[in-house]
Amino acid sequence: MKAPFLDLKAPYTELRAELDDAVQRVLSSGWYLLGPELEAFEQEFAAYCRNTHCVAMGSGGDALELVLRALGVSPGDEVIVPSHTFIASWLSISAIGARPVPVEPDERTYTIDPALIEAAITPSTRAIVPVHLYGHPADLVPIAEIADRHDLAVVEDAAQAHGARYRDRVVGEGSLAAVFSFYPGKNLGALGDGGAVVTDNADLVARLRLLRNYGSRIKYQHEIQAGNSRLDELQAAMLRVKLARLDDWNARRRSVAERYLKELSDLDDLVLPEVAPWADPAWHLFVVRSATRERLRERLAQAGVGTLIHYPVPVHLSPAFASDRRLAGSQPLAERIADEVLSLPMGPHMSDDAVDSVVAAVRAAV
Ligand SMILES: *Cc1c(COP(=O)(O)O)cnc(C)c1O
Repeated sequence: MKAPFLDLKAPYTELRAELDDAVQRVLSSGWYLLGPELEAFEQEFAAYCRNTHCVAMGSGGDALELVLRALGVSPGDEVIVPSHTFIASWLSISAIGARPVPVEPDERTYTIDPALIEAAITPSTRAIVPVHLYGHPADLVPIAEIADRHDLAVVEDAAQAHGARYRDRVVGEGSLAAVFSFYPGKNLGALGDGGAVVTDNADLVARLRLLRNYGSRIKYQHEIQAGNSRLDELQAAMLRVKLARLDDWNARRRSVAERYLKELSDLDDLVLPEVAPWADPAWHLFVVRSATRERLRERLAQAGVGTLIHYPVPVHLSPAFASDRRLAGSQPLAERIADEVLSLPMGPHMSDDAVDSVVAAVRAAV
């Protein structure tokens, strides 16, 4: 393979000594949950996101579900979410018994189109969940204006956008709450599952700490009914090692993206990602579009270039949501995008040779 889609072992190879030390430190400490590594990681990640607090959890999906619960979203409520996203954004809403109400994306940035949000608001709407898809921030200023006008909460789904910049802020800074995933393939990935909420709101933090730990603050005192969703000490320790590299790794992603943007810009049949003037994306994925996507994908595979599709089935058409008849045919743009998108290899450990191979293979294929 000349260019695998993603090399998940490379981050470990680069940081082997530090990660092995972190594992040893935790294993020999005798303390594996809700301990000093978690506390330190929460402080460090909150500071990185320029928020006062971070509450880490078992996954990004849990983090989104629990923050919506903590905000009082209840069965029958509606939450606005982009039609073009990873299904987890919707599942965290439906897990509460609330209804995800989709809004189509802006075709240039693939993030929710603020101009279409107001038409989707009803008396049952409680929150808006913009998703910084592929690492490109959603346009948060107009979204915040709409939310203020209608008294709605904004929770950013930043699962793909650790360290992305929106105007003069880092993603997650300045809104009520933002959620992150530490799934291994994300820009900041654990060696297993993990997720977190960042916020400046102390009340929200108190509720989230209850919701992630059986409703308990003090051992065997249970104030509310809740399950458990905790980031363990091993994952927290490894995330601390990797957080120190995040900006460097995002910069390396950016330089891969800049090469693709420059060296593929003259290809008529290929739509390259656009970067809004106010955005500095985290380049979680580099997604191109082609009307003949399947043919392109096959040719790239023959040339030893790994690609993936994010995502092949629009959320409203997946069997998980297809029973909601209101959704059928309602999101034509999401459907067209799902037919055309292709993600090229991207990551902080891609060699220049691998980027050369991708560029050459794409040029030969279109
Ligand atoms: C990965 C992801 C999630 C879910 O995160 P998990 O940690 O896998 O639960 C949610 N939303 C988006 C946009 C994602 O990419």
